[in-house]
Amino acid sequence: MSTALNLVNVTLEYPDGDSTLKALDSVSLRVDAGEFLSLVGPSGSGKSSLLAVAATLVRPTSGLVVIDGQDATGLRPAELTALRREAVGIIFQQPNLLPSLTAVEQLVIGDHLRGKPVRAARQRAAELLDVVGLGGVLNKRPHQLSGGQRQRVNIARALMGSPRVLLVDEPTAALDMERSESIVRLLRQVTDEFSTATLMVTHDTEFLPLTDSVAGMRDGRLGVPVRTA
Ligand code: ADP
Ligand code: MG
Repeated sequence: MSTALNLVNVTLEYPDGDSTLKALDSVSLRVDAGEFLSLVGPSGSGKSSLLAVAATLVRPTSGLVVIDGQDATGLRPAELTALRREAVGIIFQQPNLLPSLTAVEQLVIGDHLRGKPVRAARQRAAELLDVVGLGGVLNKRPHQLSGGQRQRVNIARALMGSPRVLLVDEPTAALDMERSESIVRLLRQVTDEFSTATLMVTHDTEFLPLTDSVAGMRDGRLGVPVRTA
């Protein structure tokens, strides 16, 4: 197994009045290709901050963020954008789909930004939507889809760039229990099928056994990941 995501001694501070708040305090974490790690912890403990730093959306105050062997902390903004597009897939709680676009188009537009030809993108989009169980609704728009289906589109979209690292922040927060389970099962499936290094923040402790290991956060500090099985 190769390490796709490696955080080394990452600290992230925010100004907080006269002092600073440590959203992340010396966090180190490795996620290998094909590994599904879940992250749990109370609100405000730093989970979303950890994902934002891993996604290279926020630069840490200190420490290293190594993605697919490349240290992101040394890169210039344009290089960072390229690395993010090529290597990272991000899935947030709200799918944030564009209202006027069909499921296929939601995926194609991202590839368009990557400078890829549209015909190949449509083909790949249809294949990925089939993988996530949406082969029958390729041309539906968001309002014609259920909440669970919209989250599946979101997942398929994150896979369009063939990311090595998949970062997922509370993907089931807006869904009922049954749909939540099917979304976590889907994330398990795509982790296995595409060998992504998947890091998921979740509140659903009942689905933790679907992931390989669990790490807990508290006050910006990360516990040692524990294997679930
Ligand atoms: P979680 O996702 O576990 O709820 P967050 O990572 O969102 O936690 O937040 C961790 C801490 O960092 C909290 O105390 C939060 O208030 C603070 N924080 C997060 N983002 C910012 C920001 N942009 N500016 C200042 N403080 C922030
Ligand atoms: Mg959060």
